[in-house]
Order: sequence, then C-alpha cells, then structure tokens
Amino acid sequence: MTPTARIHRGTPRNLARLAARLRAGGLVAVPTETVYGLAADATSARACRRIFAAKGRPANDPLIVHIASLRDLARVSRPNEAALKLARKFWPGPLTIVLPKTGEVPDIVTAGLPSVAVRMPAHPLFRRLIRLAGRPLAAPSANPFGSVSPTTAEHVRKSLGSRIRDILDGGPARIGLESTIVDLRDPSRPAILRPGAITAVEISRLLRTRLVRARGPGRGKAQAQAAPGRMARHYSPRTPLFLHPRLSAAQVARGRPDEAWLFIARPAGIGGPNVFWLAAGGDVRGAARSLFSTLRRIDEAGFRILHAERAPCGGLGDALNDRLTRAAARDPSPKRLRRP
Ligand code: AMP
Ligand code: MG
Repeated sequence: MTPTARIHRGTPRNLARLAARLRAGGLVAVPTETVYGLAADATSARACRRIFAAKGRPANDPLIVHIASLRDLARVSRPNEAALKLARKFWPGPLTIVLPKTGEVPDIVTAGLPSVAVRMPAHPLFRRLIRLAGRPLAAPSANPFGSVSPTTAEHVRKSLGSRIRDILDGGPARIGLESTIVDLRDPSRPAILRPGAITAVEISRLLRTRLVRARGPGRGKAQAQAAPGRMARHYSPRTPLFLHPRLSAAQVARGRPDEAWLFIARPAGIGGPNVFWLAAGGDVRGAARSLFSTLRRIDEAGFRILHAERAPCGGLGDALNDRLTRAAARDPSPKRLRRP
C-alpha cells in the first residue's frame, strides 16, 4: 500500500489542528526524544483502540500514558513518594513510571492491569501538543508491532503511512531508544522493566534502594502479567540477526558477501558495502541514537544474515544490548533458522 500520511512541521497552526484531531479521537504520530510515538486521547477507549488496530498490537500489551505537567500525574495514577522523587529529578525525560491507575484511564490502555505506565516526554513539540489537546495522550512506538522503532518522521511514513493520516515532524530522535521503565507499584521493591537512557544506577542512587532487575522477558505467569510487552522477540529487523560478544576483521574476511556485519565503532582496516557501524568513535550515545535507523538501512539493502556485536556493558550499553538481544531472538515457530 502506498503511504498517504502527511508529514507536518510543528507550526502553531499545525499543532492546533493536530490537537483538534486528537480531541476528536484521531491518531497522530508524534516526535519524542526516545522514538516516534503513535498518540491518541488516553482517556478515550475508542481512540486508543485505533492505536492497537493501526499497529497490529495485541490487546495484552499496555500503552504508556504521556503527560505535560506534574499535576496530571495524579489525574492518571496514584503516585507515591518514590515516584515523585524520580519525576522531579528526571522529568521531562526518558523515564516511564508504573503506578496504580485511576478511573480516568480506560482498561484498554493498561491491558486490563490495575497499573498504568506514565511519562513526561522532553520533546517540546510533543509537550505542546499534549497541552493543546488538554488531556493525557497514550502512545506506543509508531511502528507495526514487533518491528524496528522509528526515529524519524520518514520512518513512520514508510511503515505506517497507509494506516494513519498525520505525522508531526520533530527531527531525528535525540536518544533513539525507548524510555527506561521502572515499576513503582510497590515502592519498597522498585524494578526495572525495560532499560533505557536513565540507568538503574541513577535510579537506585536517588531512591537509596537496590533495584530488582525483572529477569528474562515474559518468563513466568506473574511477570507476563506485570508487563505484557516484554516479549523475547521485539525491535526486530527483517534480516535475521545473530548477536556476538565481539566482531573481528578476520570474521568479516571469512564471511560471504550476502552477510552484513554491524560493529559498535568503525572497525579499522576493513570496509565495503556489507560493513556497518553505529558510531565512528564507538561512543555509546551515538550508537544508541543510530541503532534503529541503521537496522532499517541494512534491511533495505537485503542481506541474507546480519552479524552484530554487543555494546560494552553498563549504562546505556545495557539498553542497547537489551534491544540487540530481542532483535536476535527467534520466533518459537517450527521453521527455525539454523545458525550459520
Ligand atoms: P512501547 O511499546 O514502547 O510503548 O512500550 C510500552 C511498554 O510499557 C509495554 O510494552 C510494557 O512493557 C510497559 N507498560 C505499559 N503499561 C504498563 C503497565 N501498566 N504495567 C507494566 N508495564 C507497562
Ligand atoms: Mg514498541
């Protein structure tokens, strides 16, 4: 299908129009500092149902609710002291907090859970749009379910452009990876549900407690309930991805021309159309920012296999490795790919 969605610049007039569309129950793709989101009125079940339909997202995967002021936190959730502490320090920014929900939030948004995930985004255009819409906006990443997240307006147009009408352009996403999700339903046992740019170390330092790192995506019934979205396979390029602790020039030399290689830093002494890297000097922020767009470029080039290497552990490297691990996970289908 050909993309018919329009990409709008963030002029005051365009923002007013898009806000009206949201108030009327429509969908608008929006820029955030993490990845582009697909937004709808979080207080309307009918509007939010459209998000699930456009993305092909299963109903058991809850949406993040975005707010523009701290006052709105109590409108959608029952915040505790720990949540307020984190919000004051890291908002607006790439941190999502899971809290008990209020009646303002329809069940479809939280996949029937009594908890809601809330974030105040840093991107000024998105915040302005939330204010103009006059209500919290639910928004998952603006891509078909399970595929690579969009970090530019053009990415959104290419993948969802035939299913939505409006995309607000806010430039390339500054961070490029989805927000950190911290579970504060029980503030005495805070847990990281998804690593992101705000690190576990920063959070535990502020809360003065140790964090429980929810292990292994979607393992066990209780966990699947706590965060239905943490599927093992997610953020996946079409090209089958194999993750290695490190890649070397020797491996590339032994490989075939239809295999692509993805390094964190630019490798010395090798190159060619099948050699890619995330950041020339290997800085982890630059690598995070270009991960999803690089995976798209590799998909478009049509390689048979992609070999990627892990980032150094710690901080944002952990978030990068989380996405790479999920991108490398195989469907539990019988048609298993053999490791090359
Ligand atoms: P995204 O698809 O990037 O918008 O991520 C949304 C993710 O936030 C979901 O897949 C869940 O992992 C998490 N999430 C959202 N709402 C909740 C909730 N009420 N409780 C726990 N996790 C949540
Ligand atoms: Mg997503």
